[in-house]
Amino acid sequence: MIEGMDRRIVVVGGGPAGLYSAYLVKKKNPNILVTLFEEHSEIGIPICCSGLIGIDGLKKTDLLKYIIINDCVDNKVKGANIYGPYKSYFKVLSKVDKAYVLDRGKFDKKIRDLALSVGVEIVYDSRVVDVKENTVFVDDLKKNCSTEYKFDFLIGADGPNSIVRKTCFPEYKDIEKEFIIGYQIYVEGEFTKNKVDLYFNDFSRGLFSWVVPESGSSAKIGIGVSLSSDSKRKNNPKEQLYEFIKKNNIIYDKETSFCSALLPISKPLSNFVKDNVIIIGDAGCFVKVTTGGGVNFGLMSAKIAANAITNRIKDFKKLESYNKDIKRYVSELNLHYKIRRYILSKSNSELDELIQKLNDIGISSILEKEGDIDYPSLFIRKLFFNRKFFSLFRELIKFLKS
Ligand SMILES: Cc1cc2nc3c(=O)[nH]c(=O)nc-3n(C[C@H](O)[C@H](O)[C@H](O)COP(=O)(O)OP(=O)(O)OC[C@H]3O[C@@H](n4cnc5c(N)ncnc54)[C@H](O)[C@@H]3O)c2cc1C
Repeated sequence: MIEGMDRRIVVVGGGPAGLYSAYLVKKKNPNILVTLFEEHSEIGIPICCSGLIGIDGLKKTDLLKYIIINDCVDNKVKGANIYGPYKSYFKVLSKVDKAYVLDRGKFDKKIRDLALSVGVEIVYDSRVVDVKENTVFVDDLKKNCSTEYKFDFLIGADGPNSIVRKTCFPEYKDIEKEFIIGYQIYVEGEFTKNKVDLYFNDFSRGLFSWVVPESGSSAKIGIGVSLSSDSKRKNNPKEQLYEFIKKNNIIYDKETSFCSALLPISKPLSNFVKDNVIIIGDAGCFVKVTTGGGVNFGLMSAKIAANAITNRIKDFKKLESYNKDIKRYVSELNLHYKIRRYILSKSNSELDELIQKLNDIGISSILEKEGDIDYPSLFIRKLFFNRKFFSLFRELIKFLKS
């Protein structure tokens, strides 16, 4: 116990989920020491993310109450061009902005500043290498030495390769086999500013390829590649990306940089609490497996984890309440999982045909009004009651069975 402090909460990982949970838990419990370990020397560097964040989903996390989001918004988009494997295509263009394209470095630093403003202690260059008996074992990467820290609660927010998940939740050891690798280049050129392009094809079986404009003159072009051995194509994401760019005749002037990172695409987990340890964000696979997007659900898991810890401290409620309170969001992630399995069950020609049919029955106008990139449940329910969808009734049944 630290003098003058009631307890110590350790957070592993200084991404958006870890920083937001640290901020909220310290704000709600000022007399508790909150220490966050980050293995890099700075927040927001390195980052590999397209930064496409649904505006409605972000509002639900409450983060917008605490930061001025426009400081980290590069672009706002109203819709998407969706390309099938062969010739199919449809476009969605809403009247209002649907998603931000964030500068993730600035965004993460904003949340860092929030955390610092309430007194969270951030310890850089410090990699947590093990967790045992209420203690984290931390390697100081600068000084080349190791230290042990006792904790009362531990939040694992250490991304897809989470050491907290691996050590405290061994039952999930196999999920990594499903993970996908994302490869992305940053380019300059001429781009349509208000829409993203999404390509469903063999280059990125299991996800899609994307062009996300940061402005009219720069964009992020990326691909998600399954590393599982049953993948039909070559598994080199970089090669796949350039082949995809060539085949689809995507034009840009200059490549300025690139990045690559894991996306924790898996069946959603069902338990996120072990004794006094909680996992959130990518560490808990809070990622929409249809898109690889994890920022909004990661922030939501951070918010709910901070509440669960506060309720445990103040009202002696069980920490397992986190599992219960997060359930509604896990159901939504399960629906994303179902949609992905359904898409994966289709051959290229079946997928092309489906995208064409969706276009023919006017999916665009329905998506423009009702679509939500984070929470598909409401939208899907509406489809079942939409007369235009009678012609796709058999597909809807197949989807339900998938
Ligand atoms: C190519 C690509 C594109 C993406 N595009 C989007 C997008 O457009 N929209 C979207 O919503 N999401 C996107 N994502 C996903 C998004 O980046 C993640 O979901 C999000 O960053 C998860 O936040 P987090 O805080 O859980 O984890 P992270 O951001 O991964 O942060 C984890 C932190 O923990 C640190 N860490 C890891 N291990 C340790 C350790 N042992 N000790 C100490 N520190 C440790 C890391 O250095 C890191 O800072 C994309 C991902 C990729 C790879």
